Amino acid sequence: MTAMNRLSQKISAAVCLFTRLDRRDADHEKLTRYIVALNRETLPLEIIKHGAACLKEITNQRVLAFAIRNGNRIDGWADPKTDEKSVQELILNDFNATGTTALNLRTQSFHPDRQACRFNLGNLVSYETGKKKSLSKIYMIPDPRSCGYHGDIANIVLQSCSLAVSRQMTIKHLSNTAMIDPLTGCYNRREFANQLKSQIAGAVRHDSDLAVFMFDLDHFKKVNDRYGHLAGDQVLKEISLLVRQNMRQGDVFARYGGEEFIAILPETDKRKAIELADRLRRKIRARTVLCGSRAIKVTASFGVASLDHQNRETNTIIGDADKMLYKAKLKGRNMVMPGLMKLVRPGREETWDHGLRMRVM
Ligand code: GH3
Ligand code: MG
Ligand code: MG
Repeated sequence: MTAMNRLSQKISAAVCLFTRLDRRDADHEKLTRYIVALNRETLPLEIIKHGAACLKEITNQRVLAFAIRNGNRIDGWADPKTDEKSVQELILNDFNATGTTALNLRTQSFHPDRQACRFNLGNLVSYETGKKKSLSKIYMIPDPRSCGYHGDIANIVLQSCSLAVSRQMTIKHLSNTAMIDPLTGCYNRREFANQLKSQIAGAVRHDSDLAVFMFDLDHFKKVNDRYGHLAGDQVLKEISLLVRQNMRQGDVFARYGGEEFIAILPETDKRKAIELADRLRRKIRARTVLCGSRAIKVTASFGVASLDHQNRETNTIIGDADKMLYKAKLKGRNMVMPGLMKLVRPGREETWDHGLRMRVM
């Protein structure tokens, strides 16, 4: 080898070393940026998206799926190039899912995608994040060409994702327990008060309708006396779920106390609110709650009120609904107050349709 060749080899080795050092510096800078970004996110999927982008960019490891337990449900996201059925099986197996666990799997591409092939799940590795109750897993394909410090970078990214997801799940759990009634899963009274304040402010600002209904289960003490407190709890759970399932997404439904519930209906006038309340009253009356071998039937009395834009400073919407509920109890229970106005047209027969207890107000 000539002296010239030796020199050129030395120079290229030095350049290579410097480039690698340069690359490391650049990688560390990127890593820091991604970690700052993922720690700003509040949703687990968004956290994982930053982690996945970082892994791909620096270590060429590709995230293919992410799944997180949420109570009795598992939320999952998988790359469109994976086989949906196999991913489903893998996740259900990894999360020890029982018959009652529902997996909600959606497609999600974690990287800008130029690869044409489909992925084989056989050589997938998973990384566990979060704790038992909010266990989550990242599934990825490692790049065998990754060099030493890339392994450290991958560990840092995965640990950061894990910490960020756990932190967000803890925050969510804490704020949920402060807002949610543990028996029925509805908002509690305190959260209802918060929501009512902001909903009224919104309705006043936009000059829009807003109504409220309250209902109280009739003779519920007798249900407890006859069937026991646990059966009573089961009734509260099922009836509140029935009502929630029959309301719109923007409505706010809360347990006001004991066997009394309350709802805010934005952009709803009084007539529509009365119609909804009566539909719910009939659904409650028709429902049979099965508790062991016992079949329990209940009814409910409703009070409805709407926002009075004339007197919005001294808003009394809850008091008005409560008065109406009291009236429904006095008048015999299993009814909505105020009832619908009966329109009597001259020359026409009066009809009492929908089984509504209509009355002239
Ligand atoms: P009314 O038609 O006048 O409303 O009669 P009621 O028996 O429903 O009313 P009352 O206020 O006398 O009784 C309410 C009952 O609701 C008594 C209480 O034990 C029961 N209750 C309140 N909260 C719960 C609960 O969380 N679980 C169960 N099982 N029962 C509850
Ligand atoms: Mg009651
Ligand atoms: Mg009551």
